[in-house]
Amino acid sequence: MGIPETASDRQRRALLIHYYRTLLETLGPQGWWPARTRMEVILGAILTQNTTWRNAALALARLRKAGLFKLKKLRQMSPQELEIYVRPAGFFRQKAATISNFVAWLDRRHQGSLYSLFSTPSELLRQELMKLKGLGDETIDAILLYAGRKPFFVADAYTRRILSRHGWLPSNADYATAQELIHRQLPRDPQLFNEFHALLVEIGKHHCKKQAPDCGKCPLAEYLPQRDLSHNGEKPLISSEQESRIEPSPA
Ligand code: SF4
Repeated sequence: MGIPETASDRQRRALLIHYYRTLLETLGPQGWWPARTRMEVILGAILTQNTTWRNAALALARLRKAGLFKLKKLRQMSPQELEIYVRPAGFFRQKAATISNFVAWLDRRHQGSLYSLFSTPSELLRQELMKLKGLGDETIDAILLYAGRKPFFVADAYTRRILSRHGWLPSNADYATAQELIHRQLPRDPQLFNEFHALLVEIGKHHCKKQAPDCGKCPLAEYLPQRDLSHNGEKPLISSEQESRIEPSPA
């Protein structure tokens, strides 16, 4: 691990907040999630599973054009009819079925009301959503955070890659481990989680690529435990400069 074992939780929190502030100052607010309504966020979160946002956006554009962001119209569609619209997002049968299942469950459990859905206590709601077919951790947390303003961090592959390359997590850390780290170290603040996640995605897309991370131009390079920008990012060690950054901050 690149973070000193002696660092307290408070010091770790301070360092993570430094990451966040540096990204925000460098890249600016990301304005996520790119959607106008909560239903659009939910559909986008389902459609972007296992594909690029570009493909998900093509499917969303079809749904929008057909008026299918409205629950009333969506519930009139069979999964087979929906497949035509969501085809650009890939895995279209599975995704159409997931959307139909979600809408049917929303009607059954919450009388078709997103207000009722998001009025459910956060942990209970997450457990309920985990039982729905086709929804995984990442999709559920994107729905909870971006549509429901609930304090769940979306610990996606970009987040895990960046945090492991900086020594916060082992390189094979799973979703739950990464999320637990963020939840333990940072305040459970939906706005903070929203912006931090969006900023990390930006870094993951443009700098922290799977192969050959572009550390030289990355805003997080100053936090690399070693200033050797040619390293493969897997074996960071803490530098004295970084250690000096980990000052206690107000709780
Ligand atoms: S400095 Fe390098 S390892 Fe760190 S986030 Fe940027 S690209 Fe990834």
